[in-house]
Amino acid sequence: MTTTTTSAPHPRHAMLSGWGRYPLSESDIYRPDRIAELQAVVSGNSSSLIARGLGRAYGDAALNDQNRVVDLTRLNRVLAFDPASGLLRCEAGVTIAELLDVFLPRGFFPPVTPGTRFVTLGGSIAADVHGKNHHRDSSLASHVTWFDLMVASGEVLRCSREENAALFWATVGGMGLTGVILELELRMRRVESAYLDGELIRAGNIDAAIEAFERLDAQYRYSVAWIDCNSVKSALGRSILNVGNFATLAQLPRNLAQNPLNIAPKLSPFVPFDFPVVNSLTVRMFNAVNYAFHREKPGHTIFDWNSFFYPLDSIRNWPRIYGKRGFVQYQCVWPPAESRAGLVEVLEAITRSRRASFLAVLKKFGAQDGMLSFPMPGYTLAIDFPVTDGMLEFLDTLDAMVLKRGGRVYLAKDARMSPETFRAMYPNLSKWQAAKALADPENRFSSSLSRRLRMTE
Ligand SMILES: Cc1cc2nc3c(=O)[nH]c(=O)nc-3n(C[C@H](O)[C@H](O)[C@H](O)COP(=O)(O)OP(=O)(O)OC[C@H]3O[C@@H](n4cnc5c(N)ncnc54)[C@H](O)[C@@H]3O)c2cc1C
Repeated sequence: MTTTTTSAPHPRHAMLSGWGRYPLSESDIYRPDRIAELQAVVSGNSSSLIARGLGRAYGDAALNDQNRVVDLTRLNRVLAFDPASGLLRCEAGVTIAELLDVFLPRGFFPPVTPGTRFVTLGGSIAADVHGKNHHRDSSLASHVTWFDLMVASGEVLRCSREENAALFWATVGGMGLTGVILELELRMRRVESAYLDGELIRAGNIDAAIEAFERLDAQYRYSVAWIDCNSVKSALGRSILNVGNFATLAQLPRNLAQNPLNIAPKLSPFVPFDFPVVNSLTVRMFNAVNYAFHREKPGHTIFDWNSFFYPLDSIRNWPRIYGKRGFVQYQCVWPPAESRAGLVEVLEAITRSRRASFLAVLKKFGAQDGMLSFPMPGYTLAIDFPVTDGMLEFLDTLDAMVLKRGGRVYLAKDARMSPETFRAMYPNLSKWQAAKALADPENRFSSSLSRRLRMTE
């Protein structure tokens, strides 16, 4: 039993949301800058608590309405790095943006990164995030050797594949519900440059996109397709594919090879106020222009790391284009044998519904561990839906389509799924519940997401 000698920092009472700005919730927010303060927050009060990183989960995963939230962003020290092995030890509040600033100029890149660099490592492990290389390298958990987890009693447990293994696999993808990740070790990837050598391919429809993924799979570590989800009939699912590997010095043109690890930041424009420009007309125009603009370039293309991995980060506050009511991102995955039929069915339903979405992203997943981790081998689609009348009911119909083909929906994006759908989509739930009950018998770690989905019942 640990005794608490430091008192908890004073909370701030405020309104919070996820990245989609739907739903909103009120909480007491603590922002400790020392582990002892965090311990006082965790064990010094019996009301429920959830950890929060940079709030990039889209829905209610990092919300705890009318309860406590602990912001981990001050626990963000890099503790050790071994350039020979690439092993990095740091606190969980370190962000991928900070890792890039420090390590990319030295020739190291995170082994897995989501489509934004503004996430903490703690939040990324809790969601077990995937990147554009999942088909090759699986999710973030595969590259984490261990982490220290503060459980409900305030005790800190080392979790790895060997030590407290069930808790390790319940925490990766466990959405903060087993405890607070404090510190971790991660293996960074060595790269020769901050550029990618790859190809930009236009696929005329979903079959051409899948054919391109399958053909290029073995050749490229990173792949992603941006789908025009307003295309119909024989053009349904037409897409722009970006595929690439980190470029070697020999692959770079001379002007770039002179300074291959230059990561000079570009100025980001931002949306200054709520400006709901998304409607079915603007979306159709955007998708048509985007597809026409990206002419296929024969042969190889050099991409810079920023525009390849983080195109959305180039406009700060972009959720404002969806207006004050916010939006939901729907991300689902189907097993390989059902992926094509599932994609066609969902894309047809979206075009029929005329529900606007600027953004639709297609990726291929590979092998996956983790009790509640989202990925499974197959194809995954992510689409934004502005909150409009009837949108929630529409997404229920998509759930039914995904579920009947053995697929699932991503918790880090979700804000509206039903408990029954969740239960049917996550077959390892009872294993996860057993590990959660051992670490947190009184269910202290709880969130708006966990209560909505009745995850512990
Ligand atoms: C533009 C954009 C693109 C994205 N692209 C991808 C993508 O390609 N792939 C992908 O997988 N995801 C993607 N995401 C989702 C994002 O990577 C995850 O939601 C991630 O969890 C956000 O990290 P965060 O630090 O903001 O955590 P938050 O959003 O603050 O929290 C997310 C979850 O982590 C838990 N948590 C946070 N810190 C800790 C901690 N220290 N200990 C325990 N639990 C903790 C929270 O309780 C919550 O359940 C994207 C999000 C955005 C906005």
